[in-house]
Amino acid sequence: MPEQSPLELAEGDPFGPHNLPYGVFTTAGEPERRRLGVRVGGHVLDAGAAAHALGSPYAALLDRPSLNPLMAAGRTAWRDVRRALTAWVTVPAHRPDIEPLLHPLDSVTLHLPYEVADYVDFYASEHHATNVGRIFRPDGDALTPNWKHLPIGYHGRAGTIVVSGTDVTRPSGQRKSPADPAPVFGPSGKLDIEAEVAFVVGTPSRQGSPVELASFRDHVFGLSLLNDWSARDIQAWEYVPLGPFLGKSFATSVAAWVTPLEALDAARVAPPARTDDLLPYLDDAQDEEPGGFDLRISVSLNGHVISEPPFSTMYWTAAQQLAHMTVNGASLRTGDLFASGTVSGARREERGSFLELTWNGTEPLELPDGKRTFLEDGDEITLTAWAPGPDGTRVGLGEVAGRIVAG
Ligand code: CA
Repeated sequence: MPEQSPLELAEGDPFGPHNLPYGVFTTAGEPERRRLGVRVGGHVLDAGAAAHALGSPYAALLDRPSLNPLMAAGRTAWRDVRRALTAWVTVPAHRPDIEPLLHPLDSVTLHLPYEVADYVDFYASEHHATNVGRIFRPDGDALTPNWKHLPIGYHGRAGTIVVSGTDVTRPSGQRKSPADPAPVFGPSGKLDIEAEVAFVVGTPSRQGSPVELASFRDHVFGLSLLNDWSARDIQAWEYVPLGPFLGKSFATSVAAWVTPLEALDAARVAPPARTDDLLPYLDDAQDEEPGGFDLRISVSLNGHVISEPPFSTMYWTAAQQLAHMTVNGASLRTGDLFASGTVSGARREERGSFLELTWNGTEPLELPDGKRTFLEDGDEITLTAWAPGPDGTRVGLGEVAGRIVAG
C-alpha cells in the first residue's frame, strides 16, 4: 500500500486548507536559511520553493526569510497568494511538486515570522479591567472614568518579543509592598501571564492620516496568540503615574504562526452591547462586518487546563483599537503589533491571568502538581485556541508556549 500523502488530512483537522497560517522555519540541514512556510496539518510547506516549482508569480513574495514583504504587499496580494496556496495544497495535479516540499512540523525550528516594528498593548476586556480594579482599588470604582470611552493602551517593548518555545527568565526588580518600610530588590515573587490575542499590521499608513474603522482589513494582515508575561510586584510599585514599564518589558511571547484574517471570516461576531455612546471615530454600530472574533482560548499550566477565556467577550474590538491608536495621526509600519489586553470572561474559569484566577494570590489554584498563586521556576504555560471555520470546521491558532527559568 502506498504511503499516505501528508496532504490527506484527517477529517476536521483544524490546520486544513481552510486555515493555512504563515510562519518562518529552518531545517536541521540548513539552520541558517530562514524560509517562509505555510502550515498544512502536521507539516510545513516551503512556500518559496513551492512558488518556484509551480512557476508562480508570487515567488518574489514567498521566497523570503520573513513575512514582511508579503505583509507589506497589501490586501489584494494577500488574497491572491492565499488563493494560490489553497490550490497548491488541494488540487491533486500539484501533488508531485508539492509533496516533496512538505516538512514534518517536529523536524523544523520555528522563528519569529516577521520583524516586529512597534508594539502596543491594550486593556480591552471589561471583565479583566473590572477584576483588576476590584483587586487594586477596592474602595473606588472598578473601571476608570475613561474606560468605556476609549480603548486604554500603552507602548510596549518590541525588541523583547520572543517566539513561542523560548524560555523566559524570571525578572528581578524593585518592589515595595505596603508593609515594607523601603523598596527592596530581587527576583519577582509574583510572576504572571496575560492570555491575549495580537494583531499584526501589514500595510503601512501615512503620518497625519488616521486609519478609520472601515479600513481595518486594508491594514491588518492577521492575528496570533500572545502571552504578556507580567511581574505583578514590580508592576504594582512602578506603574503610578505613567503605567507599565519593567514589570512587562522583560519578555512577551507570541505564537510562531500568523492566522490570516480571511481564514477567520466565519468567526466574526458582534462585540458586547456598548453601554455608553461612542465618539464617531469609534462608533461601530453601523459597520457591515461585526468587529469581534469568536476565538476559544485555552490556558494550560504544565499540561493542565486552568482557564478558557472567550475572546468574543472583549468590549473593544481590534478595529477600534487600530482607529484609536492612529486617530492622532500616528502612522503604522509593516510589522506593528497590537495586542488585545488580557482576555477574561465573566466566570472564574475564564480568567486570563493568575492575578485574577487566584485573586492576587489569596485564593490559590489546586493543581495535580501542587498549589499555585503565581508562576514557579520550571512552570510551562501554553495558550491554544480555535475558532469556528467555514462549513462547521474549526480553525486552529498556533500555540504560544513558554517555560520559566530562574533569574
Ligand atoms: Ca497585557
